[in-house]
Amino acid sequence: MTLDASQSTTDIIIESCSHINEQDAIDVRGSFHGLLRDAPMTSTAVVNALSQQLIYQLQLGLPNAFISFDDLNVDLSDAAFPFLQAQAKQALQRAISDRGVPLLVNSAYRTIAQQMLLYNDRFNNSNPVAPPGRSNHQTGLAIDIEDPRGWEPFLVRHGWEPLPGDPPHFDFAGGGTDIRSKAILAFQQLWNKNHPDQRIAEDGIFSEGGETEDALNRSPAMGFEKAPWEAKPRLLRLCIPRMEGSDVLKFQQALQKAGIAISPDGEFGPATDKAAKEFQQKKGLVADGIIGDKTRAMMA
Ligand SMILES: [Zn+2]
Repeated sequence: MTLDASQSTTDIIIESCSHINEQDAIDVRGSFHGLLRDAPMTSTAVVNALSQQLIYQLQLGLPNAFISFDDLNVDLSDAAFPFLQAQAKQALQRAISDRGVPLLVNSAYRTIAQQMLLYNDRFNNSNPVAPPGRSNHQTGLAIDIEDPRGWEPFLVRHGWEPLPGDPPHFDFAGGGTDIRSKAILAFQQLWNKNHPDQRIAEDGIFSEGGETEDALNRSPAMGFEKAPWEAKPRLLRLCIPRMEGSDVLKFQQALQKAGIAISPDGEFGPATDKAAKEFQQKKGLVADGIIGDKTRAMMA
């Protein structure tokens, strides 16, 4: 299934991005300890850990097609996941180098866990809120930025389009894969992996009042016990939003065991970055704070 500009308007609900970004922006550190349905709608960052698992699971099904753009010349807000489909990222990179200044990004990819939170809170909003799978921020082809009118000529030249009536919002017009149903599927797979006794259909469909909505609401905001990176550990590093999870906690505990001063809390912040570099230096590794196989091998 592919997505192009003509299709994208048919089943996507257009939200008011400046309004939604206000709900994203509050400085929350660390995910809510409890189920998604009980999480306070202070910021979509309360489902940070679960969101990271959903992104990783989605990437397992779309290798190299859905990628981070935080290596570009961008400034990111705290709750925005800097992920785009590969072609959209390349076009963004060209627009940024064309203008030659950093791009301030308030929002890019929104996970279905974040969307569920916003949707559960929809009666408190005068603006439309899309159900999971139907927001234009679930396509991996959308960004909300600062200084939209200054950026417009550069973005348009490289294949991005402004969305009339929604000033901060741009969509990549060059097409891509429909990852919205794949994001629902990724959640269904992750749920089933963790609940073999309460399996739900792996059909990529979210229907209101359906079993996928119920399961998503009953998912832990801190992420599932069986994480999608069990088979292939993720690279740990300091990034926005901060990495959270049992793999981060395990790494911090291993640092502590190795005699590095650190308070393990399961969140990869600046203190963990500093401790990681100290450990790497001690072991004669490249002290880049990126935790992959080489660093892990030294921790056994
Ligand atoms: Zn937007």
